Amino acid sequence: MMKPSDHDLARSVRSYCARLGADPLLVQGAGGNVSWKEGDVLWVKASGTWLAEAERADVFVPVDMGALRKSVAAGDFGAVPRVLGEARLRPSIETSLHGLMPWRVVVHVHAIEVLARLVRREAREEMERCLGPTGAEGFVPYRKPGVELARAVAGVLAASPDCRVVCLMNHGIVVGGDDVEDVDARLRGVLESCATPPLSPAGTAHAAAWHAPPGTGYVRCADRAIELLAIDPGWLSRVRSDWALYPDHVVFLGPAAVVRAEEELPSSVGAGEDAPPFVFVAGKGVLQRSEVTAAQVAQLRCYYEVIRRQADGVLLATLGDAEIEELMNWDSEKYRQALSRGMSRP
Ligand SMILES: [Zn+2]
Repeated sequence: MMKPSDHDLARSVRSYCARLGADPLLVQGAGGNVSWKEGDVLWVKASGTWLAEAERADVFVPVDMGALRKSVAAGDFGAVPRVLGEARLRPSIETSLHGLMPWRVVVHVHAIEVLARLVRREAREEMERCLGPTGAEGFVPYRKPGVELARAVAGVLAASPDCRVVCLMNHGIVVGGDDVEDVDARLRGVLESCATPPLSPAGTAHAAAWHAPPGTGYVRCADRAIELLAIDPGWLSRVRSDWALYPDHVVFLGPAAVVRAEEELPSSVGAGEDAPPFVFVAGKGVLQRSEVTAAQVAQLRCYYEVIRRQADGVLLATLGDAEIEELMNWDSEKYRQALSRGMSRP
């Protein structure tokens, strides 16, 4: 039986998730995950579901917290979480991470204001500068999400058991707290300390009138802001050289950007399953495949927000070939993408 206070907690977490999910600077599509603990039950977001839907749909799965605690204590971060009841959905791939954080409410988001710094080569120094000693003690170098990431976070907590803010390089942030208000205050504090004013595109860069070549299966991207990535010369050069910055970007948008000159269209775009979701047409704008998903558009918008927070000359840390490869051939991610394709939400 749930205690009345558990009902309140569940309700407040769900409504908090809906708020988080509605802010594209905090959550993009199916990204991010949230959990809360009720005794021996961990309620964690299901893989592939959207936090924005938390009040309208069942996006949380109850898992056996006792079993999870035991595996984590034994250093087994890959144990399959035991789902309680008849859940149709799989718990998040970050379930171990949520289980090992001792805090009652745990929020993991790819918040732009932090992410924009976590993709820089000097990420650790930046976190220390913005957050003080907390930024350094809670810093985790890039690890593949899931087992390896959970192991690295466990290492941080072993060294600093009071750490409630964990900054994941090339990924995002994890915040723990006693309740929603506590977590939110910490998260807001971090966002404020890390905030960077977004830059405007170069003076001459603006989206001109043009059309996608007919018959290619591509249409012009409806988001004019996203198009600036192909129009601003500095941003386009980031697209070419600083593409693979964090896991969701690679998983949803592919291992490399496809950049073409207008005169190279349409024959060189590719077709069928392998056709890229987006094509950057240098100096012109961005084309999107007709069947692009809402999750993919949200992901490219996230990249735009990250890129326009980088001053000229700032060096970014891109994921290496091996890291990209392991993200591309990952069953859990294929499952999550398949769910995203099924989402009708715009
Ligand atoms: Zn994540």
